[in-house]
Amino acid sequence: MSIKHLKLDLTNNCNLKCEFCPYHWLNSCKNLKKINLDFEKAKENIFNWWIKFNSVQLSGSWESLLHPDFKEIILYIRWKVDNLRIITNWTLVDKNLDCLVNNFDKIIISLHWWELVHNNIVRNKGAYKKVINWILLLKKKWFKNIKINYVLTEKNIYDVFEVIKFSKNYGIAITFSLDFLPNIDKYIDKVSILLYIISYIKNNGYEVNPNLDDKEIVKYFTNKAYIIDPNYCDHIYKTIEIQFDWSVNICRSNSFWNIFQKKILEIVNDSKRLKFLETIKREISSKEWLSNPRCYRCCYQKPKNP
Ligand code: SF4
Ligand code: SF4
Repeated sequence: MSIKHLKLDLTNNCNLKCEFCPYHWLNSCKNLKKINLDFEKAKENIFNWWIKFNSVQLSGSWESLLHPDFKEIILYIRWKVDNLRIITNWTLVDKNLDCLVNNFDKIIISLHWWELVHNNIVRNKGAYKKVINWILLLKKKWFKNIKINYVLTEKNIYDVFEVIKFSKNYGIAITFSLDFLPNIDKYIDKVSILLYIISYIKNNGYEVNPNLDDKEIVKYFTNKAYIIDPNYCDHIYKTIEIQFDWSVNICRSNSFWNIFQKKILEIVNDSKRLKFLETIKREISSKEWLSNPRCYRCCYQKPKNP
């Protein structure tokens, strides 16, 4: 299986501080010096060395729109890929709206609903108004492939009913994601409510990510060491990630190399990456299956029989 997807961080900076953010609150990230990808160097080592990625996804880990050369980067990589996606908090669109509309195949926007709740979750007083205004502008420009990502937390689970009405009225798709870092203690006595709300979401035709059955949802919210599918992982064969510090890895593996040390094709074929693939293959076929904390709540896994 060959590499088809690239996940690229343009920066390690974000203007928000979402309470569930798996990146901001890691000790190792708190005091990071802010770095933007040096695109002139990156061109040489990523894009001029790769024939064609099927898809490139900008971040999801930080806010790509903070890169000062965002437009220039997009115009350069657009013709190199079939499918260009961005995950964004959608508060910094400003002068980039036309560039986004004209060049992206899909825009995934984080919105956790109504003004006070959203602003409280992302810890920014003006965020909600900006997101809504720019979503409506996107609609006015006839951009179709918008998806809102709504992370279900204990603060917004009861808003789901109204949010589904909003989605139907405005024709905007929503995916509901389970809290990435659930505070297990806060959920223990709410699991039956969660189950009810999640089944309401699904019965209305919306996607819940990960798509677990009731038994697995209970485990997800009550078990710290939860792995969606301990005996399967194909993500590692298809994807490569380049992080803000130019290190290359897959999911939460250690970095293989830095793109300024080696060209991307050399890294893909390098023994460090191949050893990691072997490790995962071995773990999957071991008695314990995938049981390393590296894989807890991994966003790239899908349940086998939802
Ligand atoms: S917008 Fe994304 S990167 Fe920024 S704090 Fe929120 S979850 Fe983290
Ligand atoms: S964290 Fe684990 S399950 Fe997820 S992609 Fe990596 S190896 Fe696979």
